[in-house]
Amino acid sequence: MRFSFALLPRLSLTLLLAIALLSGCSVNQVTGKRQMSMSFDEQVKMGNSQYGPAQQQQGGRYVVDPDLNVYVNEVGQSVAKFSPVKLPYEFVVLNNDVPNAWALPGGKIAINRGLLVLLDDEAQLASVLGHEVIHAAAEHSAKQMRNSQILGIGVAAAAVAAGMTDNENAALIGLGAALGAKVYQAHYGRSQELEADFYGIDYMVAAGYDPQAAVELQMKFVELSKGQKSNGLGKLFASHPPSEERVKKNQQKANKLPKGKRNQAAYQQAIAQIIKDQPAYAKHNEALLAANNKQLDSALSLSNQAIKMQPNEAMFYVTKGKILSSQNKEKEARNAFAIATKKNPDYYMGQLALGVTEAQLGNKQQAKSALQKSYLLLPTSLAAYNLGQLEEQQGNTQNAVKYYKAAASENSNIGKAAQQKLRNMNAG
Ligand SMILES: [Zn+2]
Repeated sequence: MRFSFALLPRLSLTLLLAIALLSGCSVNQVTGKRQMSMSFDEQVKMGNSQYGPAQQQQGGRYVVDPDLNVYVNEVGQSVAKFSPVKLPYEFVVLNNDVPNAWALPGGKIAINRGLLVLLDDEAQLASVLGHEVIHAAAEHSAKQMRNSQILGIGVAAAAVAAGMTDNENAALIGLGAALGAKVYQAHYGRSQELEADFYGIDYMVAAGYDPQAAVELQMKFVELSKGQKSNGLGKLFASHPPSEERVKKNQQKANKLPKGKRNQAAYQQAIAQIIKDQPAYAKHNEALLAANNKQLDSALSLSNQAIKMQPNEAMFYVTKGKILSSQNKEKEARNAFAIATKKNPDYYMGQLALGVTEAQLGNKQQAKSALQKSYLLLPTSLAAYNLGQLEEQQGNTQNAVKYYKAAASENSNIGKAAQQKLRNMNAG
């Protein structure tokens, strides 16, 4: 139990009792430690509610090569089945360049495309996923979330803001931030990292993998962390700080364990597509950079080059559409967004951009359909405001008020515009 009463001198005894009753005290099956534990149902519910929004905000699922997700989930499940804590484990690959992996309470785990390209073999992947399994199973993720909720730290807003900066170029078209999606980036402590390493190695060895991979992985991260500012690894290392201590402890543990499989060929085959597409993603990043520097012609040319290299990547069409939109070519922008939603209907950004553009072009039905899809994937103030306008125009006052109220909760220009709409309708 890391929940020290001494840290909370001002909480009343009644409140502490209430928290204890709500959470219950139990022995964690991974660590054998007594802890304040959330019920199984609470953890699964918490993880489920965050999983979708967290994925959307970080690029959505990687769908160009669906086999990769199947492979990663299989490797993850093969390790997770040795956890005594039986959670509904799930492993997804996110379409994000930033090398990162995370776990939500309830066993909901994600790994970015940008981390997969840095690993050498399946044993290293099993090590990453085993480590995340422990964060979920030993309730590190749950404790982090619960403590921040109890202490009322403004984690949610900060995480939402941070989540927006990854792949998205909000500045280009001014697409709104998510509403009420409490996406949470954990910052695990030293003891939690050591615990996740220690038990993670047990599970990967039980699954037949070589424990030396965990040592190599940590060495790799220590090496990469030396230049972290320039290579975008900050996020991974903020949530899972690498250290020489972890290298040493992993080595001590690995020395006592049997060698196992590496499955390098299988791993290299599984990641072949994302390796092949690295130049296309690099070109896309050049396009984003040029667009940010207002070099729109150059940005458009670069985005077209990225599309030529990988015509199935929806994100490339989203960026192309945003650039065209910045050039006031709304019809061409709409066409690019429409292709993006065909390539990947389940990414909110493509649907949102399509909906906003269709609304600008006066195509109300198409606008409403795309905006509703985007709103279900990730409720943003921009989608809410536009849906409010469409409902208002169609005389659906109740629905309009509902959407405007959602948008008005945000402290932004869109939020203020929604508040004005509500005042005009005498519903504020
Ligand atoms: Zn960790």
